[in-house]
Amino acid sequence: MIDCFDDTVRSKIDAAERIWLFLDYDGTLADFAPTPDDIFPDADLIELLTALVRQPRLRVAVVSGRRLAHIQQLVPVPGILLAGTYGLEMQHTDGTLVHRLPLDDVRPTVDAVKQRWAAALGGHSGFFLEDKGWTLAIHAKDAEPETGPRVLAAAEQAARLLLRDAPPDRFRILGGDRFLELGPTIAHKGETVNHLLDACAWPGALPVYLGDDDKDEEAFAEIVAAGGLALVVAATPRPTRATCRLESPQATRRWLATLLT
Ligand SMILES: [Mg+2]
Repeated sequence: MIDCFDDTVRSKIDAAERIWLFLDYDGTLADFAPTPDDIFPDADLIELLTALVRQPRLRVAVVSGRRLAHIQQLVPVPGILLAGTYGLEMQHTDGTLVHRLPLDDVRPTVDAVKQRWAAALGGHSGFFLEDKGWTLAIHAKDAEPETGPRVLAAAEQAARLLLRDAPPDRFRILGGDRFLELGPTIAHKGETVNHLLDACAWPGALPVYLGDDDKDEEAFAEIVAAGGLALVVAATPRPTRATCRLESPQATRRWLATLLT
């Protein structure tokens, strides 16, 4: 897999009249926070994003699994589109707020699963149950190596049983590294990218997506299909749909800085 600083990537960027940047936050623009409730705005990053959004050739969106309220605090930059909870809740560039699904539609299921998951985690340390409104997540980074997978598997099984009573295809369960999340099917970065490319079309723009995990891979597929560039942030090469690789969030920032003229 080629490095994103490679000339072939550069020439595609240079040839583009306009570029629509879609940026994941955690693990892509910034190193991971200890827990999802840690919100540490990064002054250098805010400065970089501010400079990017001022370029007439660029449009910038941050697409994150975090709640919109967190992203608003992390990226207080006017003119950037902010998509939280994988795009279920968005703040458009003019400040307009959009919820793509009524919260009332999902809460009965989320509440039922929350009760089961709270019980499943009871007495175990190292787990963090996060209620994101439309979705519910268990973070298990600090769980014991033997306990973590076992508790997550039991929680997933309990959720699947409850989902048999929910409207079909309304919800899905996301896995990950010591992570489990239940959310609406449209809480999906690929779906969100397609929605934005369609609903906020910018003729002639090259879509470019930067992300680091399996939720971003769902967007990579759509971006590549749309003729765009997908950049994966990963310390070592791994199977990916991305076009090229950046080794760290610090490399991401250096790459983004090359778009400033
Ligand atoms: Mg990420």
